[in-house]
Amino acid sequence: MIQAHGLTKTIDTGTHRVDILKGIDLEIPRAQFAAIMGPSGSGKSTLLGLLAGLDTPTAGTISLDGQEITGLKEDELALVRGRKIGFVFQSYHLIPTLTAEENVLLPMELAGNGSGDGPARARELLDRVGLADRRDHYPVQLSGGEQQRVALARAFMVRPPILLADEPTGNLDSENGRLVLDLLLSLNRQEGTTLVLVTHDQELANVADRRILLRDGRIV
Ligand code: ADP
Ligand code: MG
Repeated sequence: MIQAHGLTKTIDTGTHRVDILKGIDLEIPRAQFAAIMGPSGSGKSTLLGLLAGLDTPTAGTISLDGQEITGLKEDELALVRGRKIGFVFQSYHLIPTLTAEENVLLPMELAGNGSGDGPARARELLDRVGLADRRDHYPVQLSGGEQQRVALARAFMVRPPILLADEPTGNLDSENGRLVLDLLLSLNRQEGTTLVLVTHDQELANVADRRILLRDGRIV
């Protein structure tokens, strides 16, 4: 379960202050699929980054399964992130010098667990996202849809109970978008992964258990 209370984010640009989030209260129960929607600039990516512990709020608290993550030191936060959270970005964020399989394996390598059954699981996941024959390819040799599927496989690698995705289908054509959405949905439905998805796609949002609309830094 994700709980956020009184979340604010203010950026000081040097010349003026920008209130990006203005008091967000939010509870997302375990295994829920929540879609975050709202116009460009309304604070969706900022909110997702806070929930992932990739960024810290100006005020307010965030708890994951009852553990407050606000106030944790960076190394403690990294540990919680590694155990609990998978993150998928709109622009894939693959490491260009690593093959598809090495990219998928990376979270386990970082957790000091890159040998053992890691490589076998990486191959199984690449198979599951339809890229069994692409595992030795580098990102530049893959299409956008294929890169996003590698990014999904990487996010699944540590079996995170929470998956956060920021417009994961935003750069994809409808066929690849459908494929990526089906994978996210099967993870949510079959494995009970809590799924929080930022999207502009109304059709996709209609599949969600719940829609959260942001406008100008507030939930409306
Ligand atoms: P969304 O994902 O809904 O498009 P964002 O969370 O990316 O919105 O951004 C919300 C607002 O905060 C935007 O107006 C954006 O320009 C501003 N913003 C985000 N990050 C920064 C930053 N580091 N410095 C200044 N303004 C920022
Ligand atoms: Mg955004």
